[in-house]
Amino acid sequence: MAANAICTGMAKKLTGKVALVTGGSRGIGAAIANRLAEEGADVAIGYSASAAKAEEVAQQLKLKGVRAEAFQADQADSAQAAALVDKTVKAFGRLDILVNNAGVAVGGAVTETAGREAEFARQYDINVGGVVAAVRAAAAHLPAGGRIITIGSSLGALVPYAGLADYSGTKAAVVGYSRGWARDLGPKGITVNVVQPGATATDMNPDNGPFAEALKAHTALGRFAQPEEIAAAVAFLASPDASYITGTTLTVDGGHNA
Ligand code: NAP
Repeated sequence: MAANAICTGMAKKLTGKVALVTGGSRGIGAAIANRLAEEGADVAIGYSASAAKAEEVAQQLKLKGVRAEAFQADQADSAQAAALVDKTVKAFGRLDILVNNAGVAVGGAVTETAGREAEFARQYDINVGGVVAAVRAAAAHLPAGGRIITIGSSLGALVPYAGLADYSGTKAAVVGYSRGWARDLGPKGITVNVVQPGATATDMNPDNGPFAEALKAHTALGRFAQPEEIAAAVAFLASPDASYITGTTLTVDGGHNA
């Protein structure tokens, strides 16, 4: 029976589950969407501007034999973030795994931020407000065994560089929220955790960008992560193997914060 189950693909850990990955059109989110689909989940992705890339990711997911949809939603707008959850439930009939991945990084030291208030406010609205709105909407739908996984940052735990206070503040905020949500949703059998990537090679943080060499030197492993290495941690937390892990952070940073 067990051997047969493996041969027929029944051993996939997320078969029958529905996942929503915000910011699934590129970078870490696209890797997470692909990995969850490989584990057998049907996957909805959200995006803001990259319609063509989002459609391309959705097509890749379908080739893995799962259902997939791409929905536009600006995470800076709480109503759109909540509607994205509802669209997913409407399209797939349920929601088991919410991955809050969409995010932006706006740098600038506190002494140099005058006139940039709108940029920082928008970053807060996306990185924190969009997450809060999505979780509030998802809490009504997630069943026992449900998962909420938010992509924070190693900079949510330690800030070893100047010019990152606002970004780091957003990533620390989602950790506090997630601890609280773990308490609120634990009685329903839903786990809530934060994956904290270090420098990961994406459009946001290219591994040949101006800060790349300094970032690499700051890690124990001497290199950036590939998006698939972050996706692996998300897939673990989404799986039944992580059933007793909640209210915590999993830092995947190559030893940056060691
Ligand atoms: P990325 O390559 O810039 O991709 C960002 C994703 O978020 C895209 O899918 C983008 O959609 C979406 N997005 C941006 N603004 C949005 C909005 N207003 N509404 C909806 N979606 C929006 O970034 P990434 O490096 O993959 O980062 C993903 C997450 O990891 C972020 O939360 C980031 O803070 C975190 N992180 C990244 C690193 C790193 O080194 N890369 C390190 C630590 C943490 P469009 O394609 O439509 O623009």
